Amino acid sequence: MALSDLTADDLGQLESELAAQYAALGDRGLSLDLTRGKPSPEQLDLSERLLSLPGEGDHKAGKTDVRNYGGGAGLPELRAIMAELLGVDADRVIAQDNASLSIMYDLLSFSMLFGTPDSERPWKDEPKLRWLCPVPGYDRHFGITEALGIEMIPVSLDEGGPDMDEVEHLVATDPSIKGMWCVPIYSNPTGTVYSDHTVSRLARMSAAAPDFRVIWDNAYVVHTLTEDFPKVPDVDTLAAEAGHPNRFLQVCSTSKITFAGAGVSFLSSSRENLDWYLGHTGIRSIGPNKVNQLAHARFFGDAEGVRSHMQKHRQIVAPKFEAADAALRRRLGGHDVVARWSRPEGGYFIDLEVPDGTATETVRLAKEIGVALTPAGSAYPYGQDPDDRHIRLAPTLPPLAEVETAMDVVGLCALLAACRTARD
Ligand code: PLP
Repeated sequence: MALSDLTADDLGQLESELAAQYAALGDRGLSLDLTRGKPSPEQLDLSERLLSLPGEGDHKAGKTDVRNYGGGAGLPELRAIMAELLGVDADRVIAQDNASLSIMYDLLSFSMLFGTPDSERPWKDEPKLRWLCPVPGYDRHFGITEALGIEMIPVSLDEGGPDMDEVEHLVATDPSIKGMWCVPIYSNPTGTVYSDHTVSRLARMSAAAPDFRVIWDNAYVVHTLTEDFPKVPDVDTLAAEAGHPNRFLQVCSTSKITFAGAGVSFLSSSRENLDWYLGHTGIRSIGPNKVNQLAHARFFGDAEGVRSHMQKHRQIVAPKFEAADAALRRRLGGHDVVARWSRPEGGYFIDLEVPDGTATETVRLAKEIGVALTPAGSAYPYGQDPDDRHIRLAPTLPPLAEVETAMDVVGLCALLAACRTARD
């Protein structure tokens, strides 16, 4: 039954019932946290063996002594594993230090300071810089573009990816649009997987800026919640065929495969882009942490080793997503026009859509009784969701029982906020 179909009396009664349940939950003194997409301790334990790798005496990768300086592109052994997972040639992937976010920050700051191989001038000397941001999206992406003073333009993220009619139009007509954030597989926070058609349009579309770039953040490329792994599109080949060989800058990392704070990050792109990137990183560092890279190569063995490791993650994570979905259904299912939420097949997040104008209030209500959520609006550039509708839920970190309770609270708060708004 939709709230709008209820009489004022019925709505009032529903609200007082919900308020009583809310007060009862408040009495439990909860302290739960669904804010960030972190792996749980149980997931981190899956990689505990890494702490003893590569191990005393094991410091050679081919002729390379991993303890020494050098090897800016990273260890070929590990690059080959990631290349197979991404479906690209091993010489088109480089391995870096622990955070792909650092690579993304570098890509943009090098472009600002020096320009890309296709730029007429450093981006900082352009009169105006704009960037497309599919929304809802990843707050830390938006943090980078905001920090560098690049104006962000939201474009809506639909079922098969960004609204391509809008993207094509904007990119073809506005030379100040220098790039776009994309999380093509199990997007943060909606779980969206870009369709083949969307990927092909992104690769082929014409751009007014000769140095237009897509940061192709494949953070969740192997993070399936099912038995299957997603198909990984070969964007470089598609773009090269269309005459845009330097368009895509693909990044990923093992942050949510092994250790979030001590993994290995990767960049895959055209030879020209990789040489450009390494030219700049070679100034700021004499090489990445190859000891950790060797540890990872030993730990995985091969690409199949990564896949079987990810299935162990799935056994821990998938029940939490199922519990979250079930709790939301219990609370909101009878009022399915009140809210909807994503049921992703991979990744780390659920995107909850509540009635317009009630996301901030839902988050506030939850916080008041001890459930911390990501601030409403955080999945939008500048933290502004124009409809105040989206809430990002991250169920991986808390234990299963806490996920159930926290999601129950979220569902209750969403319903209570919707009821109050409907009565106003
Ligand atoms: N990209 C996306 C889409 C993410 O959701 C996250 C973490 O939540 C990251 C990147 C962070 O990656 P890293 O740990 O490699 O910096």
